Amino acid sequence: TTENWPGDFYRLRETLPAEDQALLAELRGFLAEHVAPIINDYWTRAEFPRQLIPEMAKLGIAGASYHGYGFRGRSPLLDGFIALEIARVDCSIATFMGVHGGLSAGSIYLCGSEEQKQRWLPAMARMEKIGSFGLTEPEVGSGAAGGLMTTCRREGDEWVLNGAKRWIGNATFADINVIWARDVDDGQVKGFVVEKGTPGFATEVMKNKIALRVVQNAMITLTDCRVPHANKLESANSFADTARVLRMTRGFVAWEAVGCGLGAFEHALAYAKKRKQFGRPIGGFQMVQDQLVKMLAGVTTSMTLCHRLSQLEEQGQGSEEAASLAKLYCTVSARETVGLARELLGGNGILLEENVGRFVADAEAIYSYEGTREINALIVGRGLTGIGAFV
Ligand code: FAD
Repeated sequence: TTENWPGDFYRLRETLPAEDQALLAELRGFLAEHVAPIINDYWTRAEFPRQLIPEMAKLGIAGASYHGYGFRGRSPLLDGFIALEIARVDCSIATFMGVHGGLSAGSIYLCGSEEQKQRWLPAMARMEKIGSFGLTEPEVGSGAAGGLMTTCRREGDEWVLNGAKRWIGNATFADINVIWARDVDDGQVKGFVVEKGTPGFATEVMKNKIALRVVQNAMITLTDCRVPHANKLESANSFADTARVLRMTRGFVAWEAVGCGLGAFEHALAYAKKRKQFGRPIGGFQMVQDQLVKMLAGVTTSMTLCHRLSQLEEQGQGSEEAASLAKLYCTVSARETVGLARELLGGNGILLEENVGRFVADAEAIYSYEGTREINALIVGRGLTGIGAFV
């Protein structure tokens, strides 16, 4: 009912099969019991609660829409609601899952050979092995399509990787690192799995982040890092293949943005009912109700858009433009929603323990990663006009 899920105003969750709704309820319980009580502390210390991984694994939520290899084999819609549900409590944990199950396992799922999928995915589905995804570089972010400077060179049965990556989530401890590099021979972008401990692969954690502090982002250096040809993802042979992965994960980020706004909205709604000024709850003032409704409208339109996007993906009718439009719209909307929530809490809005400030900070990172607003707008603009305007 809307009473139990106040932000799901049009009861979109009820369009899921009962089995999937039950999983979401179980996930919600897990997050309330194990994540909500500790997350501000980890956020302050900029540490990742590794002890949660086996617990999350038991829920079977990694790559829930993938078929085979130990995954649940459900739908993109369930994957989306899982991202929303986690982000509603904490966007860092949602990002950790997005990188592991979406970007990393998704690269292997979409671009790996059958043998490669059998080799890596079951342990990733069980979360015994954690993944990262290295595309961005110190000098190349938005321009990754044409500008990647990390190189790969084939030498007999091996590939030699050289270069640097930046911002790579989970990479300080990940077992399976998907690395994208440009082939010095044909100039194309190719994808590789670099396993933890491979000589020439080094990571350093990035410090002083003011958002998503729980996520461990890394600088990676690749120095004559050799991987067997068997670790080159069979169907990752140009940036178009990277884009297939990003199209899928951008949809999840859009869902994550809905969760980010929803988490802040729910805290603000509870606060409006209990905080009194002028002798009555502030939720009784017209202007405060207007703010609450603006937040609800933002969350609701975003959730509805994501819902349809995931349905189209399931029917095989998604598109890069549809994913990009959702990612950009929902992250813009989330930024507005968290700002309104912070405003509604007055001074308390900037206190970590009031649970809205963290969403405000984290919305900034979600807004910029997996394609900034401008880059996603250019993808949609290219689709509309047929003219690429990136350069
Ligand atoms: P830049 O590309 O330098 O852009 C700076 C500004 O210029 C932006 O506003 C941008 O929109 C604008 N701009 C650039 N080009 C154009 C243009 N043609 N037209 C108009 N405007 C333009 N990457 C990974 O590979 N793996 C990860 O796990 C990962 N995790 C991340 C986690 C966090 C918390 C963050 C912040 C980033 C992460 N990233 C990751 C990197 C992320 O994808 C990049 O930050 C993003 O693509 C933007 O690149 P940039 O930061 O280099 O910005």
